[in-house]
Amino acid sequence: MATKERFVGVSFDDGPNSQNIQEILAILRENNCQATFFWIAEFAKKFSDQDRNLFSKIIRELKVSEHEIGLHAPSDYAPTFLSRAYSQFSKEEIKIAIADLEELTGQKVRLYRPHYLLQPASIIFARQLGLSTVFGDAIHYASADASTEVQIKKFSGARSGSILIFHDGTTLQRKTTHILEVLPQVLDNLKGLGLTPTKASAVLS
Ligand SMILES: [Zn+2]
Repeated sequence: MATKERFVGVSFDDGPNSQNIQEILAILRENNCQATFFWIAEFAKKFSDQDRNLFSKIIRELKVSEHEIGLHAPSDYAPTFLSRAYSQFSKEEIKIAIADLEELTGQKVRLYRPHYLLQPASIIFARQLGLSTVFGDAIHYASADASTEVQIKKFSGARSGSILIFHDGTTLQRKTTHILEVLPQVLDNLKGLGLTPTKASAVLS
């Protein structure tokens, strides 16, 4: 991979969540860091319906700070891990989700990340619809008992060309992943290693 600068991708799955996103955007702004948000289209629609003012504010901030939006899923297959991992979205569902996200965000959606990095049929459909699928090599998804320190450590192997996966989704995840404590520390550590945290597309190009 030709990485002229030593870039590391910073990405967030499972959002948007109105409780986390403002604080996460503030942390990114303080660190002058662009990032990629892989959103669930259903959640974005709900957020926009429930709090249009806040949602518009978020969209403006995404634009000003040049963050990018990718598709994570048309909707959330919440019931079990297995249903999330192996339930397949149809090509039509993916197509509609892309159009919805583009309308809601005013951004062209070019990237896709499936739940749990699985869902093979959805990856094919996303490709056919012009999206590139982006995986990652360090995942911030913790069991409830993992401490902030343990979670920060998960990213200690990051190197030039890595793409990190955080979660800004539910309130529960905020509690278990300590995202607001973990994120600034990880960004700091990357910079300390001479790496530049940025959005996924910058790593891939
Ligand atoms: Zn997910």
